[in-house]
Amino acid sequence: MTKVTSYGAAQTVTGSCHLVKIDSLRILVDCGMFQGDGGSQRNYEDFGFEASKIDYLILTHAHLDHIGRVPKLIKEGFKGKIIATKPTRDIAKIMLLDSAKILKEEYKILIKKAKRRGDEDLIHEPLYSEENVKQLFAKKWHTLEYYQDYKLGHHAIVSLGNAGHIMGSAFVMIDYKEHEKQKRIVFSGDIGSPERLIIDSVDKLDQADTLFIESTYGDRNHKSLKESVEEFKSAVTNTINENGNVLIPSFALERTQEILWLLHEMYEEGLLPQCRVFLDSPLAIKATELYNKYPFHLSDAPEAESSIGKDPFSFKWLETTQSRDQSIKINSVKKRSIIIAGSGMCNGGRIMQHLKHRLWNPNNAVIFVGYQVEGTLGRSIVDGAKYIKLYGEEIVNKATVYTINGFSAHADQNDLIEWIRPIKKLNKLFLIHGETAKMDIFTQVIKQKLDIDAQIMQYGVSVEL
Ligand SMILES: [Zn+2]
Repeated sequence: MTKVTSYGAAQTVTGSCHLVKIDSLRILVDCGMFQGDGGSQRNYEDFGFEASKIDYLILTHAHLDHIGRVPKLIKEGFKGKIIATKPTRDIAKIMLLDSAKILKEEYKILIKKAKRRGDEDLIHEPLYSEENVKQLFAKKWHTLEYYQDYKLGHHAIVSLGNAGHIMGSAFVMIDYKEHEKQKRIVFSGDIGSPERLIIDSVDKLDQADTLFIESTYGDRNHKSLKESVEEFKSAVTNTINENGNVLIPSFALERTQEILWLLHEMYEEGLLPQCRVFLDSPLAIKATELYNKYPFHLSDAPEAESSIGKDPFSFKWLETTQSRDQSIKINSVKKRSIIIAGSGMCNGGRIMQHLKHRLWNPNNAVIFVGYQVEGTLGRSIVDGAKYIKLYGEEIVNKATVYTINGFSAHADQNDLIEWIRPIKKLNKLFLIHGETAKMDIFTQVIKQKLDIDAQIMQYGVSVEL
């Protein structure tokens, strides 16, 4: 008997975690962190299954909402094998070490406040420590190339296809026999749009009996990438030509490398006006090194640069700032600079001090290149807040604000439909990794366009295949 249960990313976009049982074999696909409003508390709750009984953990990609609870899995006695692509393993390491550091800092602040209130007993220890992350990477990982088979016991075979979402991202194909019939379950992981800037776009999936598909943007279509690239380039050029400074709040992984690649291209073509460019994020600097380590995973243009010994994510005017002191020194640059810093939604990180120093000046610009969730500082700037409170100081928002929406790393509604359409033998379709309202819309569109009844997965409820 084959069963699948959602232990995360069921009617939500975080905490991705699915348990597949094929007879006695137990396979976990992803073990992500819950994020956002009220999410973090859920990370401390029971998994809902016994970590020690899992035989295999397969990771689709290295975003925290897909890997963020793996160290907790180790802490709770997981002894099975871990399967992922090489870039996913390497990126997971820097992401989880960074996450452990943040958890420790948050804990310190929480405990200090709780002590003053006298209820420190109510504060959890951090979800995991740097030590737990190191234990995880002391284990042997079984890394796979795309389409390389790997036997899961005697029952099943797994292979990975390129999901085109971030470097190393994969959809997971599990092939097994049931009543002498060959069957295939596929987990999409996060699927990229067909047009990507720096990595190869998503591979076609030709066959599956059962598909678990993400539905982050099941309700909408994005602007085209080309349009967004043009918008980005002209926002940069206009601001620098007027002697202004450009702030780019950016996610350390993928989006930063895309921005660096675009600036590299502008520089090479002589289209970047004279300026200083700062990559002010230690995590993004590390991530960029990993993108250079796997040129085979890059799309044609950056791969070609790399093959002639050029770094596609660098150029003469780029300066990387590791230390806090170097970061603060950027404040003394008065004009013609581009500053790329995290966090992508301005809810912490080095971008905060740059906003404090630059947001009031009408010569400057802030370019948002990623989605801004409601409740974040980034969202209030995008929504046109006149004043922003930073470090207890009120700052007037006079900078030009650009919101560029076409860089999404997720497929939109059309892309998802077109990815599903050619799949042969598909007889069961389950929606995961999406908000309920968007999934409802997506279910109707799937029925209309593909004539398939898709089901929305519920947390903790098993489906029999
Ligand atoms: Zn992702």
